Amino acid sequence: MIIAVDGLAASGKSTVAKAVAKKMSYEYMDTGAMYRALTWKALEKKVDIFDEEALVRLANLTRIYFSNGGKVFVDGVDVTEEIRSPRVSNAVSIVSRVPDVRRIMVKQQRAAAKDKNVVVEGRDIGTVVFPEAEVKIFLTAVPRERARRRKVELEGKGHRMDVTTVEREIISRDRIDSTRPAGPLLKAPDAHVIDTTDKDVEQVVEEVLKLAHLAPPTAE
Ligand code: C5P
Repeated sequence: MIIAVDGLAASGKSTVAKAVAKKMSYEYMDTGAMYRALTWKALEKKVDIFDEEALVRLANLTRIYFSNGGKVFVDGVDVTEEIRSPRVSNAVSIVSRVPDVRRIMVKQQRAAAKDKNVVVEGRDIGTVVFPEAEVKIFLTAVPRERARRRKVELEGKGHRMDVTTVEREIISRDRIDSTRPAGPLLKAPDAHVIDTTDKDVEQVVEEVLKLAHLAPPTAE
């Protein structure tokens, strides 16, 4: 069974998807981490992020994988912390809008989830990657609350930023993500929308678990 968790930037996707996966003993796949990892490598290698062909070449030469403990590796380098930096956040939507980059990532995501029970989080999971997912969730929250949560998270990692700057960054990312032609950030028609603005993590996780238990079993 596949549980697709899509939604706006900093709407709580990772926290909720990880908790649901744990409760259900499912695997967890963070597709955003893959786009972030490629972006990290492009910045490291000083590849022009506006050069689409160079990005596609780079994507074809890059091995991105996750350890069992949830760490993210690029060609053997642990980039778990680095990919959350503001430097990567500010560039990732430029990299992820390239259609052939997306094709490469989507192929890897489908291969990694094949025949597994998995909670997959991203932007295009319920629409493009797994349109057949048994459960589709779309998370939203007002921008100020999303910015507040992200600021707390960033501060925990030593990045000091004011809430207005964070809010500007997530709004800009959502705008680029939702207006690109390939795999835009979009609610699938059959997705359940959950506004997390006034909800705590436990409430949202409960809602998702309820939907997952109501979902018909996967056809063999
Ligand atoms: O989920 P997260 O905020 O880490 O995603 C970072 C970026 O990766 C998004 O803003 C988007 O540009 C890209 N992304 C995407 N498709 C996905 C997941 C993430 O384009 N399925």
